[in-house]
Amino acid sequence: METTTLSEPTLFQALLRGLSLRCPRCGEGHLLSGYLRQYDACSHCGLETGAIRADDGPPWLTLLVVGHLLAPFMVITLMNDALPSWLSTLIMAVVAAALCLGLLPRAKGLFIAAIWKLGAQSPTDPSDQA
Ligand SMILES: [Zn+2]
Repeated sequence: METTTLSEPTLFQALLRGLSLRCPRCGEGHLLSGYLRQYDACSHCGLETGAIRADDGPPWLTLLVVGHLLAPFMVITLMNDALPSWLSTLIMAVVAAALCLGLLPRAKGLFIAAIWKLGAQSPTDPSDQA
């Protein structure tokens, strides 16, 4: 692990780095080791992000964005009868699933970056250690 002296990123820089699944402080190390599993610390600067809990924020943001992206298409396709309803429903379900799977890790990165930058981490609860 390399420890470097870094200038403090702005909130916007940290959010962009989190959105790109990079360490919010240095922008070099990866934030997630798998689909949603966090690394304990950045491999480049050593920032400990493993204890940051995004909880229900990422799924909430993902559903909010996907719902707003798909709502106009649902209204257009269902009001025009251009496609059979089973086909438009199938297409929307596939698109919604793909968007959710693609956006969820980025939303988690965004929340981790925001929580780190704003210092909104919850204090460690000793009852969580059990
Ligand atoms: Zn880092």
